[in-house]
Formats: sequence, structure tokens, C-alpha cells
Amino acid sequence: MGLLLLGPPERAAVWSEICSEVGEVFYHEVAPVEEVTYLACWQPPADLSVYPNLRVVICVGAGVDQMPVMPEGIALVRTYAASVDEMVRDWVVMATLMLHRDMPSYLEQAREGLWQGGAISLSRGAKVGIMGMGRIGSLAAETLGGMGFDVLGWSRSGRGPQDVRMFDASGIDAFLAEAETLICLLPLTSQTRGLMDDAFLAKLPEGARLVQAGRGAQLPLDALRRALESGKVASAMLDVTDPEPLSANHWAWSDPRVIVTPHVAGQTDAREGVEHALAVIRADRSREKLPGLVDQTLGY
Ligand code: NAP
Repeated sequence: MGLLLLGPPERAAVWSEICSEVGEVFYHEVAPVEEVTYLACWQPPADLSVYPNLRVVICVGAGVDQMPVMPEGIALVRTYAASVDEMVRDWVVMATLMLHRDMPSYLEQAREGLWQGGAISLSRGAKVGIMGMGRIGSLAAETLGGMGFDVLGWSRSGRGPQDVRMFDASGIDAFLAEAETLICLLPLTSQTRGLMDDAFLAKLPEGARLVQAGRGAQLPLDALRRALESGKVASAMLDVTDPEPLSANHWAWSDPRVIVTPHVAGQTDAREGVEHALAVIRADRSREKLPGLVDQTLGY
């Protein structure tokens, strides 16, 4: 009984080495089907019934929106890794500062060789609203709060760090009204797909900034374009888009108010990934709660 990884050979090399150190049976890409009790992958094969002894599917990333609903008796787990949390936090902090300090305008000026300063905003007291106060949202809140930003949080349950002013699902309008910079760190679920539509963006303060590091399908790009045209949104930085990749002639690449990065905010370090997988296996064998267990009715 062992662990099968579907993934690139560089990741497999690290997983293989660490599994052999701890005596865990490890396979890469192929395994005798009856040997596979744990399957780690970004997307599983269409038919999981080929593995008669499969107990847990381990998603090698944080988001599980690309995963199908698991058949009865198979648990789904997402990876917990400080590496990805910290990388995405760094990207979000960078994007927040870039928008807060008007970098889209200065980058455009730089392309034209134009030396022209504008007003400088203080981060202290500037309001930042973070949607999604899980692992990554909480870390981003801690860093931005430590820099002096006035951080507000929104989550389904209203749960979030103690020192953050939290809003629950029903508090969305009040939350958005204060979100001078809106940061999205939500999982993609049936409830968050298409969330940031025209009506939603209309609730932001005039000239808001938008930082999107959740999943592309949460933000219809046509709605963003209209919000930019009306001035409701002043600028945006997107790491995730719908579709991915954006076509080479997509308007978002050339709009000076928008900065796009190609889904590079974070990735799981291979060593931390396998350590998480081994923690899942240990927990499963001792019938404890699996770290990173996904609630498949909620989708995260
Ligand atoms: P997490 O720990 O599971 O936290 C999810 C948060 O979202 C929780 O605060 C949850 O609220 C909230 N939430 C979920 N559905 C909601 C809804 N309908 N309305 C309001 N709040 C809702 O997730 P995480 O590890 O922080 O990761 C968050 C997401 O970041 C991932 O799912 C992925 O999409 C994205 N991500 C992107 C990259 C990248 O490279 N761009 C990398 C990693 C992750 P409750 O606590 O109340 O349930």
C-alpha cells in the first residue's frame, strides 16, 4: 500500500527521496492499481474506481476547484505549505503597495520618458479589505496590518484573526463600502464563481484598487473593464484571470491601469508538499482528522 504522485519528475525526485527516508512506499506516474492508497496530484484521472484501495486524494496545491467531487469513501485533502502561503502573501503585499503608490501610472509615464510626480499616499490608516481570511488571507492581514494599513476582513462565517475587523457573508455591503483596496484570496466555489460582477464592484468606494490572487473565474473581466471605464475602479493587479492564459491581444495586457502576472503568486515547495502528504498518511492510519481535509459540500 503506498503513495502515487502524478506530477513533474523534479517534484517526484524530492518526494521519492523523502519517502524512502521514512520507509513509505512511493510511486511516480504508474503503480500497481491495488497498491495505491494515497494519490497526490493536481487533477486525478477521470475514473478513480481503477484504484480499489484508494483512501485519500491529496491535491498538491491550495485550491481544489479543478478537482471532481470524490466518490463515496474517498477523502479529498488540499496541501498545507507555508511556502505557498508566504509566496502569495508576498505577491499580495507587493500588489497592494504597487497600486497604493500608483505604480501603474508611473510605469506608463516611464514608457513615455515622462518625469512627473503626483501626490504620495501614506499606508498608515489606508483601508484594505481582504476577502478570504483563511491561511493566506490571515497572513496577508498580519503583514499589511503590521505596515500600518487598516485591514478589514470578509469570510463566509465571519471568522478571522482577532485583531482584524471582520465581516461575515451578510456584511458584504458594509465591507465593500470601506474597501479602498480590495484583495481577493477566496477559493473558487459555486458561491464565489462570478462574484465580482458589475453590481458587486459598484459597492466599492469610488477609485478603489483591486488585487486578485484567488481564482480567475471570480472576476468577470468585462465587469472589471466597465468599472475601470466608469472610474469606480482606478487600477487592478491580477495574478489569475479567466481564461488562463489570456490571449496575446487581450485588452487587460495593454490597459495601463491593469498589471497582469501569469498565475505566479505562489507554488508549493516540493519538500513541504511531501511532508504534508506524509502527515496526511500518518493521520489516516491512526484514524485522526486529516490535515487540509476539504469539505466537499462547501468546495474548500
Ligand atoms: P483557506 O484557508 O481554505 O481559506 C478560505 C477562506 O475563504 C476562509 O476564510 C473562508 O471563510 C473564505 N470563504 C470561502 N468561501 C467563501 C464565501 N462564499 N464567502 C466568503 N468567504 C468565503 O484557503 P487559503 O489556503 O487561504 O487559499 C485561498 C485561495 O487562494 C485558494 O483556494 C486559491 O484559490 C488561492 N490561491 C492562489 C494562488 C496563486 O498562485 N494565485 C496560490 C495559492 C492559493 P470561512 O473561514 O468562514 O469558511
